Amino acid sequence: MSPSKVSTISWDTFHNTVDGQPRGGKSKHQGVNPATGEKLWEVPIGNQQDVDDAVQAGQKAFVSWSQTSVEKRKEHIQKFCDHYMSYADEMTDLMCKETGKPRQFAEFEVKGVKGFFDHHINLDIPEDRMEDDEKVITTRYTPLGVVGAICPWNFPIILSLGKVVPALLTGNTIILKPSPYTPYTGLKIVELAQDILPPGVVQAIGGDDKLGPMLTQHPGIGKISFTGSIATGKKVMAACASTLKRVTLELGGNDASIVLPDVDIQKTAPELVMGAFQNSGQVCVATKRIYIHEDIYDEMLKAMVEFTKTVKVGAPDSGALLGPIQNEMQYEKVRSFFEDTKNQGYKFAIGEPEQARGKGYFIQPAIIDNPPNDSKIITEEPFGPIVPTQPWSDEEEVIKRANNSNAGLGACVWGKDIERAERIGKRLQAGSVFINSWEKPTPQAFFGGHKESGIGGEWGKDGLKAYCNAHVMHTYKSK
Ligand code: NAD
Repeated sequence: MSPSKVSTISWDTFHNTVDGQPRGGKSKHQGVNPATGEKLWEVPIGNQQDVDDAVQAGQKAFVSWSQTSVEKRKEHIQKFCDHYMSYADEMTDLMCKETGKPRQFAEFEVKGVKGFFDHHINLDIPEDRMEDDEKVITTRYTPLGVVGAICPWNFPIILSLGKVVPALLTGNTIILKPSPYTPYTGLKIVELAQDILPPGVVQAIGGDDKLGPMLTQHPGIGKISFTGSIATGKKVMAACASTLKRVTLELGGNDASIVLPDVDIQKTAPELVMGAFQNSGQVCVATKRIYIHEDIYDEMLKAMVEFTKTVKVGAPDSGALLGPIQNEMQYEKVRSFFEDTKNQGYKFAIGEPEQARGKGYFIQPAIIDNPPNDSKIITEEPFGPIVPTQPWSDEEEVIKRANNSNAGLGACVWGKDIERAERIGKRLQAGSVFINSWEKPTPQAFFGGHKESGIGGEWGKDGLKAYCNAHVMHTYKSK
């Protein structure tokens, strides 16, 4: 139970963790370093036996973990945080290899997750009390049991620990399933957690596409917290229905950014570009459609193009601002948006329709000037560095255009007239609206999507309730 740094940790072997023990497997797979195309280390592919064993261990651990006082749980979580943070440099190296992110952004994610620990450690489990002459009604929030956390590859640490920490705080146990594309940091974090937490409280099983359904269908799991695509989210919800599991779905977005005519063009242009191209566009709440007032459309587009010319794309230690696309499947998907744009004859304000692929999955960013409303680039989420711009003149009409999407994750409004920006922002159908900033989710704010971007949400204060049942006691005063 020592939170100090243990020198025996190996950074080139990886295993699943079940009931506090490392577990290998007969079948293995390997991630790929997206900056070089080189295969990385082998990891075991978890099977039904691993899932059954982990669920059993999670249920056993739940008995005492859920009864451990919140203060004691917080102490454990703090020690886990300190232990994890003592390996920040090693984690950053690992993150650079598994995601290809520029080192400064890999480090930002590795260290930034401390904010998620700190935020949750400072929260109390909610409790509501109502009293009248005859009774007291107390609503407490009790843990659900074993949680399954199914995670994507774009922010493998934040989007994993963003589930683990609130689940543990509220008294649940959790089984983490990292994305097969980025298994390494998740497996290593759970391995480190075993130095601090009792067996079965946090477990990890990595695997292939068969593994997710084993979790969503398992009757011993009380809740699935899923972050990923809308298409998979629908499958997850359907699978969870058979056992009426609680489910939180954090899904894809098609975020609109509306630019008012009074903005400072030179200051706003780089922000718009980074809102779209942060993490090479592989962000659920990246800006995916930019609506610029017609009075400043040409000048803003020109300034965005000039800034984009300065954006370097490259490997983690090349001083680049943008890294590669994380995997080949996604690379081909993003390329299909370039091809469609070219085939349809839409205008590239910047960006090359044809880009030769080297060993890594690098794509130079592109801005598409005023494609039609029904184009693929407007209606679908590319999840890569390509973004369309369109002009607007009428406020009502642009609000309609922004809301004309099955997705409703995030949105931005930019303007010196804050009152007007907020008035527009209030009418945007999105879970998180940012005024004069690109999309920057924070642990202090509840995060969840409207429409097909999700069900429920996490973080903030109310996010804790996503890991709880409401337990309401009606105590009548003695007669
Ligand atoms: P994905 O849906 O392909 O995979 C997500 C996870 O689901 C992976 O761990 C995968 O192995 C697992 N999975 C696959 N099939 C499954 C099944 N049938 N049942 C259960 N699990 C299954 O998504 P991705 O490509 O990893 O991530 C990119 C997508 O995620 C984008 O659409 C992006 O917008 C979205 N995303 C959303 C958020 C958010 O918070 N709203 C955050 C990041 C990414």
